Amino acid sequence: MESGLSFALTHLGGEQTVTGSCHLLRVNGVNILVDCGLAQGGERVAPMASWPVPPDKIDFLFLTHAHIDHIGRLPELISGGFRGEIITTEATAFLLAPLLEDALRLNWGQSKNISRNNFTLTPIKQLLAEVERLTWSFEYGREFDLKNGIRFQLGRAGHILGSAWVRLALGGESVVFSGDLGAPETPLLPAPDIPAPCDLLVMESTYGDRLHGDRRERVARLGAILQHALADGGRVFIPAFALGRSQELIYEIDRLYTEKAWRAEFSGLAGARVPVFLDTPLGLKITEVYGRLKPFWDQESKELLAGGDNPLDFDILYGVDSAREHHLLLDYQGPAIVLAGSGMCSGGRIVDHLKNGIGEARNDILFVGYQAAGTPGRDILTYHRRPGAYVYLDDRRCDIRARVHQLTGYSAHADQAGLLAWVAAMEQPPGRIKLVHGEPPAQAALAEKLRVSTGSEV
Ligand SMILES: [Zn+2]
Repeated sequence: MESGLSFALTHLGGEQTVTGSCHLLRVNGVNILVDCGLAQGGERVAPMASWPVPPDKIDFLFLTHAHIDHIGRLPELISGGFRGEIITTEATAFLLAPLLEDALRLNWGQSKNISRNNFTLTPIKQLLAEVERLTWSFEYGREFDLKNGIRFQLGRAGHILGSAWVRLALGGESVVFSGDLGAPETPLLPAPDIPAPCDLLVMESTYGDRLHGDRRERVARLGAILQHALADGGRVFIPAFALGRSQELIYEIDRLYTEKAWRAEFSGLAGARVPVFLDTPLGLKITEVYGRLKPFWDQESKELLAGGDNPLDFDILYGVDSAREHHLLLDYQGPAIVLAGSGMCSGGRIVDHLKNGIGEARNDILFVGYQAAGTPGRDILTYHRRPGAYVYLDDRRCDIRARVHQLTGYSAHADQAGLLAWVAAMEQPPGRIKLVHGEPPAQAALAEKLRVSTGSEV
């Protein structure tokens, strides 16, 4: 039991890492899982066989959002016998199928133990049908009954479309899972909602030791890096996750290409009509879903649209869907901006672009997201300055001659100030705060600040 509460909490993944989120809450005879994500890079999660409650005894699975590090083990969970209810928001329910389908194809394609030919598409289809059958979506802000007197509420988390925090309550006791929290200025999305007070807050801490700087500054840095990088006519490769980051980048590049003041400041981009390629079938599909779910956009995006500028489109943005188009793009010499996944270079089309272009000095690689330990993205960032630097991509040793940049301020995660402000906005500080979803240094830095600002046990 958690400090005398009726809630028993066990972390099955993502306790001190940024991937593999999975938390088990046992309360009043009900087994609740919050997220069931895949670990990436060298990070690890608890094997399901070692869980204190087996998958077939889990009653409810809450999904805070549709990133793979929060939903990726859902197929394994269902194969393990899970038949409980999946509870999430309407937008996340829309995003589940394309994300899971992509992850399944990628994993099966890459698995060395499984012959690809032994698989037909039927298991994927069956699995997705099962996920759809089990999924129930709920609106933000209202409290609903779960079971045995337990109530729940979903609040906007401002991280990606559909993202939510979860508040669970029984009698006078309550626990909040933050999920991934966005920055108040995240493009397209309204700022996170503030939950009612709680006894226990389980909170993410990805950037618990960093500050992002403000959004105008970030757009300016993005413009400056792109313009400088493209001056020699090369290509800029931006590894980005299909869900969230890709749409934010399109939004910000749309600003650079469309807004008068930005166009003047960075005439080398819009003026030179440098094309932007979104080379990810999944990213294209998701961008389309984002476009359909306009009621969930923030005020600024709605105003841009009303004024005739669709912030998720501009005239020299090209979607690259088929494998044939992808191969044609590999031969395109630039200047060009290429957005492709995966965000940590551990798979997907970005790997082809890097194998093809990382050895050329006139190309650039721009990292805009977190690079987990053990991923090629992290290796490139860590070693690129060393003489003779190289990285292994698809088991091939590739010399790094392209220039490497990092826009750390560019993140769908709140920074330290954002996380502190979110907790401070609660009517009362939480009784206790448990930090998850962050590497130990980030957690230690944030814990210290939280102890001072809230007086809570952290
Ligand atoms: Zn996320």
